Amino acid sequence: MPRTLTAASIQQQLADGLGVHPGLSVIAHVSLEALGPVEGGAEAVAAAITAAAGTVVMPAFTYQTQVIPQTGPPNNALVYGSGDTLNGRADIFRADLPVHPDCGSVAETLRRHPATLRSLHPILSFVAQGPQARSVLASQTSHNPLGPIAWLEAHDGAVLLMGLDQRHNFSLHLAEQRAGRRTFTRWALTVDAIEELHGIPGCMEGFNAVWPELMPFTTVAQIGMARCELIPLRLLLAYVEERLCADPNFMLCDKPGCLSCRAREVWR
Ligand SMILES: [Zn+2]
Repeated sequence: MPRTLTAASIQQQLADGLGVHPGLSVIAHVSLEALGPVEGGAEAVAAAITAAAGTVVMPAFTYQTQVIPQTGPPNNALVYGSGDTLNGRADIFRADLPVHPDCGSVAETLRRHPATLRSLHPILSFVAQGPQARSVLASQTSHNPLGPIAWLEAHDGAVLLMGLDQRHNFSLHLAEQRAGRRTFTRWALTVDAIEELHGIPGCMEGFNAVWPELMPFTTVAQIGMARCELIPLRLLLAYVEERLCADPNFMLCDKPGCLSCRAREVWR
């Protein structure tokens, strides 16, 4: 039987194993299940990360607000008019809408914490807690959904992966954007309207292609049963942007039916 983790033991291993410290802001992506048994569950994990790091950001995405219109811009990786069933089930975005299950239970737990703030992008909102929470969230606008990633990079922040691989490393989208990879337009239900949102990034299924190349500047530690990584954003984004400029189809998935990756392929 694996030893049961506690908030205190996770906090200590984040500090000792990965070098997480109170002066460091992180964007965290966590699989509670991958850690193995944790006394106190998602609450304990969220408490450990916020205690170990400075400002902690997590994705609080709400894909469930999306609707598909009848028409729209071309090459948008969307089958227009296909949303009749989905549109009827879409949720109206509001600040207390639960995060999509893909973001995990630790992100949802952090969202519910009274000290946590949230940005208001109807699809790609973030939650944050810590001294710079307000500042990092304010960097996001409806036309600049990746603002918080650039903010963290500018403040020497890092990506913290706990039991998850690069397919969950949302920050890689900023390197894609800087390398000129196209983004998409999506639509979401808000209280007032159907909001049109630009700069929405695409499929992440091919992101593990870059994983081994990140090892020279990645710190790795095992916490419980999970492989955990800390990757400084400045080094990560500079490396991946340059890599994508040299090889524009790198990190796209190879599924023939992936509208997102096929729309972003470059032929030359
Ligand atoms: Zn794909």
